[in-house]
Amino acid sequence: MKQPIELLGLSKSELVSFVETIGEPAYRGRQVFKGLQQRRLQSFEAMSDLPKELRARLNEVSLASSLTVESRYVSSDGTRRYLMKTHDNLPVETVFIPEERRDTICFSSQSGCPLQCTFCLTAQLGLLRSLTAAEIVEQIQIALNDAYGTGVKPPRGTNLVAMGAGEPLLNLEELLKALRVMADPQGLHIVPNRVTVSTAGVVPRILELAKTSDRPHLAISLAAPTDELRNELMPINKRWPLEELLSACKTFEKTLKPGERLTFEYVMLDGVNDSDEQARQLANLLNRHSIKAKVNLIPHNPADPLPYQPSSDEAVQRFKNVLESKGIHAYVRRPRGRDIFAACGQLAAREGTLSNRIQTTLVGANN
Ligand code: SAH
Repeated sequence: MKQPIELLGLSKSELVSFVETIGEPAYRGRQVFKGLQQRRLQSFEAMSDLPKELRARLNEVSLASSLTVESRYVSSDGTRRYLMKTHDNLPVETVFIPEERRDTICFSSQSGCPLQCTFCLTAQLGLLRSLTAAEIVEQIQIALNDAYGTGVKPPRGTNLVAMGAGEPLLNLEELLKALRVMADPQGLHIVPNRVTVSTAGVVPRILELAKTSDRPHLAISLAAPTDELRNELMPINKRWPLEELLSACKTFEKTLKPGERLTFEYVMLDGVNDSDEQARQLANLLNRHSIKAKVNLIPHNPADPLPYQPSSDEAVQRFKNVLESKGIHAYVRRPRGRDIFAACGQLAAREGTLSNRIQTTLVGANN
C-alpha cells in the first residue's frame, strides 16, 4: 500500500495540487490548509466545513497528524516538555518556554542525533532518523494547542529555535520546507526572522544556508576555543575544524541583515573549558576572524551519566568579563526546565522528571 501523505508538511499551493489529484477543486485545498495550519486541527473529522465523504477520502489517502504525545512534563518555571512518538515509534521531544514578552518553542530536527558531543545527553541515543517537514510542523502545533487551546491565537509572539534533538543542518531540506509552511500568513504565520537554527558546525550547509533567501537566523555551538579541546568535546570538529568553521561563519556574516547577528553558544563545563586563558583564546579566535557575534554562555545542564559539572556562577561571570574586555558581547543563558529534563542537552527521551512531582499524562493534545 502507498504510504499516506502527511499534509502538515505541504504548503498551501502543494495542498491545492494534492486535492486536485484526488479530483477536488482548488478551494478545498485552501480549506484543508487553513484547517491544519490556522485552526490547528489535528484530524479531518474536526474539519466540519468539509463534506463527510471528503473527510473519509482524506483519511484514506493522507494524514492530518502523525505524532502521538506520550507524556507532558511541566517544570516549576513553567517550561513544558513533550515526549512524543512518531508513527514508527521513535521519540521526538519539544520544549515550550514561556517568557514575558514572547514564547519560545524549541523543536527537534531529528529523532536522536548522529553527533557525539560528549556533554550532550541526546548523543547517547545515536541517530534514529531525520524528521519529516510534517513532523517538524506538528511539534509546534501540538505545543501551541496545549499552551493555548486548539487554534487559539497565541497572545504573545512565538519564536522557534531548532535546538532540540538532532543536527538541523543534516536535515536542512525538510527543515526549510517546514519553515516555509509555517511562514504562511494564513497558517501559523511564524516567519523565518523568528526562527534560529543551531548547528554544531556542518560547514558546507552553513555556506548553503548563507545563500538561501528567507533563511532563519543561525547559531553555532562552539564549546571550545581550540581544535585540541573541541576535537575531544565535539568530534564533528575533526571533520570541520575551527578555522574552516569560522571562515564559513565569516561568509555567513556577510549575508546578515541590518541588526541581525550571528550567535555562538558556549556550554560551560567546570574545569574543562571555563578558564580565563580559554576566554582569551575564544575572544582572540573571534577577533582574528573579525566576527561581530554575540556569545551565549550556557552553564552545563548536568545529567547522569554525563561526566561534567556546570561551571560555578563566578567562573561564568569571569569568563564573560574577559570576553567583554576584548570587545565580545556575551550573555549568560538562564537554564530553563532543568527539573524535567527539558534544558539544553537534556533531551534523551527520558520518562519522568528529576523530582517526579508534576508529571501530567496527556490524553489527546489539549489541556
Ligand atoms: N546539534 C545542534 C542543535 C542542538 S542545540 C547544535 O549542536 O547546535 C543544543 C545546544 O545545547 C547546543 O548549543 C549544545 O552545545 C548545547 N548543549 C548540549 N548539551 C548540553 C548540556 N548538557 N548542557 C548545556 N548545554 C548543552
